[in-house]
Amino acid sequence: MKPALRRVAIVGAGIAGATLARRLTDVGIGVQVFEKSRGLGGRLATRRTDWTAPDGRVHRARFDHGAPAFAAHTPAFRRFMEQAQRAGRVTTWSPRLAPALPIAQDAAPLWLPMPDMPALCRHLLQGLDLRTGCTIDALRRGSGGWSLQSAGACAGDGFDAVVLAMPAPQAAVLLHPHQLGWAEHAARVVWQPGWVLMGVAEAADAAPYWDMGRPSAGPLSCVLRTDARPGRERIAGLTHWVAHATPAWSQQHLEEAPFEVQAALLNALQSALAEWQVHVTAWRHVAVHRWRYASALGPADPAVALERDSTHWWHEATGIGACGDAVGDALGDPLAGAGVELAWCSATALAAHMVGGQPGQPAP
Ligand SMILES: Cc1cc2nc3c(=O)[nH]c(=O)nc-3n(C[C@H](O)[C@H](O)[C@H](O)COP(=O)(O)OP(=O)(O)OC[C@H]3O[C@@H](n4cnc5c(N)ncnc54)[C@H](O)[C@@H]3O)c2cc1C
Repeated sequence: MKPALRRVAIVGAGIAGATLARRLTDVGIGVQVFEKSRGLGGRLATRRTDWTAPDGRVHRARFDHGAPAFAAHTPAFRRFMEQAQRAGRVTTWSPRLAPALPIAQDAAPLWLPMPDMPALCRHLLQGLDLRTGCTIDALRRGSGGWSLQSAGACAGDGFDAVVLAMPAPQAAVLLHPHQLGWAEHAARVVWQPGWVLMGVAEAADAAPYWDMGRPSAGPLSCVLRTDARPGRERIAGLTHWVAHATPAWSQQHLEEAPFEVQAALLNALQSALAEWQVHVTAWRHVAVHRWRYASALGPADPAVALERDSTHWWHEATGIGACGDAVGDALGDPLAGAGVELAWCSATALAAHMVGGQPGQPAP
C-alpha cells in the first residue's frame, strides 16, 4: 500500500507542471505550484508589449514567441486537445505557407491555444495554489517533509513530495544533492537555444494571405505573421512578425548583445519579406528574446548508462520526481521534437505513477 500523498510542491508552471498539478488536484491531493516568471506557460509563451506610434497612440502587441504551435500524435494527447477544442481553449492551425514554398506533405493540423499560448496552462492551473515570481534555488528534506528555498528564505514547507517540471539543466542543479544519477543525466542533455525576433511593421500591402514562411538560407528558420493566425487580434495597417533564428545561428550568437542580434535578424527578416513580396514601409516596434533552453536534443554522450525506462522520474521512498520534455525515455521517443506533447505525456505518466493505487485515479 502506497503512503498517501497529501501535499505536493511542483516547481515550474509550463505545460508539464500545469498538467501534473491539475491531475493531482483532481484526485484530491493538495498542490502548490512555484514559478519563477510572473506569467504561466513556460515555453508556451506570448509576449505582450505596449508601443507608441508616431501619432502618440499606444498600441498593444502580442507575439507568440515560444513554441509557435504543436502536434498531437498520441491518442491520449489528441483526446485532450479535442476536449480543449470543444471548450474553445485551443484551435487547429494549418499554416498557410509563403509563396513558392512546397506544400507540406504531413498535412496534420497543429494545435494553437486560444487566445494566446499560455492560456492552456492558465486554465489547467485555475483555482490552484500558485506562487509566481518565485525562483526555487534549493530543496531540503527533513523530518517535516520537503521544504523549498528561494533567495535564502523558505518559500514553502511541509510537503510530502516535490516535483521539478522544468528544462533539465535547471532541474539538475536542484536534483544534485538528492538524486545524483538523475542530475548527471539531466546535465548531459544537449539543448538547442533559440533567438527570436518580434516586430510590428507597417506594410504597403498590409495583409499577405500566408502566415508562415521558411527562408531558404540565412539565419532564420521560420517566419510567422502572428496576427494572421487563428484567434489572434489584427490591427488595421499593421503586421506582427515573429522570426525564429536557426539553432546553429542561435548557438553561434548565444552570448552576443541583444542589439546586435536584433540588427542581424531584422536584416534577415526584411530580406525574406522582400523575397515574398511583402513591402514593409516602417518598423514601429522591434525586440528580441533569447531562449537559452528552447528544445532538447538528447544526452551528449549516448554511451552513458542512463535510466531510460520511463518518461518521467519518481522516487517514492523520498517523494521526489521530475517531468517535462527531456526526462527519461522522452528523448529517445519517436516524438522527439514534439516538445509540448512529450511534456504533457511525461506529466500524465508521472501523475499516474504518483497516485497509482489511490482511490479516484483519473482515467488515462
Ligand atoms: C522557440 C521555441 C520553439 C518551439 N517549438 C516547438 C514546436 O514547434 N513544437 C513543440 O511541440 N514544442 C516546441 N517547443 C518546445 C516546447 O515549448 C516545450 O517542449 C514545452 O513547452 C516544455 O514544457 P515544460 O512544461 O516541460 O517546460 P517549460 O515550458 O520550460 O516550463 C518550465 C517552467 O519552469 C519554470 N522554472 C524553471 N526553473 C525554475 C525555478 N528554479 N524555480 C521556479 N520556476 C522555474 C520556468 O520559468 C518555466 O515556466 C519550442 C520551444 C521554443 C522556446
